[in-house]
Parts: sequence; structure tokens; C-alpha cells
Amino acid sequence: MHLRFSEEDEAFRREVADWLDAALSGEFAVVRGRGGPGDEHALLDERRAWEQHLGSAHYACVAFPERYGGRDASLTQQVVFYEEYARAGGPGRLGHIGEGLLGPTLLAFGSDAQKERFLPAIARGEEIWCQGYSEPNAGSDLANVQTRARMDGGRWVIDGQKVWTSWAEWADWCFVLCRSEPEAPKHKGLSYLLVPMRQDGIEVRPIVQITGDSEFSEVFFDGAATDAEHIVGARGDGWKVAMGTLAFERGASTLGQQLGFENELSLIVEAAKRNGRARDPLIRQRLADAWIGLRIQRFHALRVLSGAAGAELPPAALVTKIYWATWHRELGKLAMDVLGPEAEIAEGAPYQLGRLQRLFLFTRSDTIYAGSNQIQRNIIGERALGLPREPR
Ligand SMILES: Cc1cc2nc3c(=O)[nH]c(=O)nc-3n(C[C@H](O)[C@H](O)[C@H](O)COP(=O)(O)OP(=O)(O)OC[C@H]3O[C@@H](n4cnc5c(N)ncnc54)[C@H](O)[C@@H]3O)c2cc1C
Repeated sequence: MHLRFSEEDEAFRREVADWLDAALSGEFAVVRGRGGPGDEHALLDERRAWEQHLGSAHYACVAFPERYGGRDASLTQQVVFYEEYARAGGPGRLGHIGEGLLGPTLLAFGSDAQKERFLPAIARGEEIWCQGYSEPNAGSDLANVQTRARMDGGRWVIDGQKVWTSWAEWADWCFVLCRSEPEAPKHKGLSYLLVPMRQDGIEVRPIVQITGDSEFSEVFFDGAATDAEHIVGARGDGWKVAMGTLAFERGASTLGQQLGFENELSLIVEAAKRNGRARDPLIRQRLADAWIGLRIQRFHALRVLSGAAGAELPPAALVTKIYWATWHRELGKLAMDVLGPEAEIAEGAPYQLGRLQRLFLFTRSDTIYAGSNQIQRNIIGERALGLPREPR
């Protein structure tokens, strides 16, 4: 087990840090620290431009192969990049779903033509993606997807509804899990389609969240269309592709996020010192526990990275999501207990919340999206411990 980064990784770290510091001090200083959870609507034009600025320096998708606009970065370099991005206060990434979910999925399952068509546009920061999986009756039970896709006039035509679709309001494209073979058994009747969002057959209705923002939306498909070749994997084989995407969602991109969390913990510690709660023994104990949880995440990430074979993560990686999500949700609660009565007062009308209030409200969702804690326990039980599969 190697609990530190190599010299080459550290050299890459300095290069990334210098570039980010310069980029976020100049023209893009305005986006520093903006667009995070509960602040998703902030400075959208500037953040689109920022995506393209990252892309022009090949930093939008460091893991992509160079020929598609990336840097062929190793797993450890990817983590180094995410850490430095958080340290520099890089803004919430509009391109995150294309970079972290669709990109790796196309590299693993896409045709050469799909890679050529879609990856460079993601790496240039030009096309924003969203993920169309969940439906009113298909969340944890994802194979229950009912949105239909049929071939008509040489194109796919899609009817149905998705829900909780993050970034749908701003996305140019959506990868949509659809039922294309209604007669086939549940898991075998699905296809994975790439669908342009800006067309008459699609209506996006934003959902207001407890943070006051609408990071996600309902998406209605009513005769929406996409080209016949915009299917990833074989017809009816979408389940395999969809599971591949989920593995990326729960994998590498989360290993480098602790520095962002550390910034949040620092704000809470500052608040505790300012309002005197740092003298409360129970608060002190919880602050120390939070710090210990961060160190655990750091060493866990390094352990997972040193056990990785190429892009393949070891079984220990299966605990990453449940650990950070539970820790982060508790951090949100701690922030409120540190603020005390102040936590219940908005900074301004009608619903202008402070950073720690947004942290508390948004972290309620951490243990739900990308697989709820209960589903994570099923995954650990079945895949890491080899327990009998839960009845399906
Ligand atoms: C902030 C946020 C962003 C999201 N973004 C997206 C997105 O971009 N695209 C997208 O497609 N979806 C997105 N989602 C949806 C997310 O994937 C689902 O909310 C999640 O999968 C849970 O599904 P559900 O909400 O239907 O709850 P359900 O599946 O109905 O679960 C309800 C409760 O039952 C429990 N449960 C369900 N099945 C089991 C089981 N087998 N064993 C034990 N317990 C079980 C769950 O853990 C949960 O506590 C987002 C959600 C949130 C909160």
C-alpha cells in the first residue's frame, strides 16, 4: 500500500495548481467558489465560458485520451486534479456529467463514431449532458424504467417521463435509459440512447428544492426523436451499459473530493470560534470527529488507489459512497448546531441562504442520489462480502 503520491503525480499537482491559481485570479475570478450545492443557478454564462476555458487547456476531462481532447491522466492524477480543483475554489462544474459519467461510458461501450462525435465536444466544454435514469416508479428499482423508445421512420422516437434529472435545464444532451423491447423480461428490454435536449418533443419542468434552487427537473418526452445510431451498446442491452455508468458515478471522481469537504469544515470551525461554541465540549468532540472522518477518507482514497489495477478499483472502493455521504450529511447537521439559533434565519428575503445553511439542506440528498445508503449496503453485501442476493 502506498499512502502518498509519486513524484510525477506531485509534479502534475504543481502544474495544475499553478494553472488554476492563474486562471481563477484573472478573468474568471468571479466564478471562484460559486455554483456549488444550493448555488447551481449562479453565473451560468460565466461558468459555461469557464468550462470552455478548462477545455482549451485540456483540463475539462483529464482522464479522456489525448486524441479526444483529454490528457490520458492516470487514476491518481485524476484524484490530484480534483483535489487541486477543490483547493483552488474551482466553481461547480456544469460539465461534470459528461466528463465523469457519459465520457467513461462511451470509452467503455461506445462505437468509434460515437467517441469521435461526442467526446471532443465534452472535452472542449461545449456540450453539457444530463442523466435520464430515474422515473416516478424507477429509482432504486431502476430496471422498472417505463419510458418507451421505438423505431419510426429510421429514427428513435421516445415517450415517457424522467424525474430528478440534474442539470436538465442547462443540458444540450441527455443519456436516456428507455424500454425498447416491451415484451422482453425487465432487465433485457432496455436501451441506452443519446438524445438532444433542445427539441419540441422535450419539456423540462424545474423542481424547486429545499435549498431554494432547482438543480434538478422533471423531463417529459412526447415524441422526442434521436438518430438511429445514437444508441450505446446493442438494442435491449442498455442495462449493462447503465450499470457501467453507475460504476463510474460511484468510483474515481469521488476520491478527490475531500479537499472541498475540508474547506467546508474550516468554515464551521471558524464559525465555532467566532460565536464561542468552540468552548462547548460536545461541539469540540464532534468537530474533532469530523476531522478524523476526513483523514479516514484521505487514507481510504489512497488505499483504493494503490490497490487499483488500471481503471479497475478494488472491492474496498465499494464503501466510498456510503462513507462520504453519511459523513457529509452529519457535517451539515454539525454546521447547524454550531450556528445555533442563527441557523434558522435567512440572510435575506425571500430565501437567501448562507453557505452553511445550503450545505445542511443539500447534504440531506447525499445519502439518496447515486444509490441510497440502503442500496449501498446491498451492493457491499452482495459484491464485497458475497452474501446471498436479495430476492428480486
Ligand atoms: C439531488 C439529487 C440529484 C439526482 N440527480 C439525478 C439525475 O441526474 N438523474 C437521475 O436519473 N436521477 C437522479 N436522482 C435520483 C436518484 O438516483 C434517486 O432519488 C435514487 O436512486 C432513489 O430513488 P427514489 O428517489 O425513487 O427512491 P426509492 O427507490 O423509492 O427509495 C425510497 C426508499 O426505499 C429504500 N429502498 C428502495 N429499494 C430498497 C431495497 N431494495 N432495499 C432496501 N431499501 C430500499 C431507499 O433506500 C429509500 O430510502 C437524483 C436524486 C437527488 C436527490
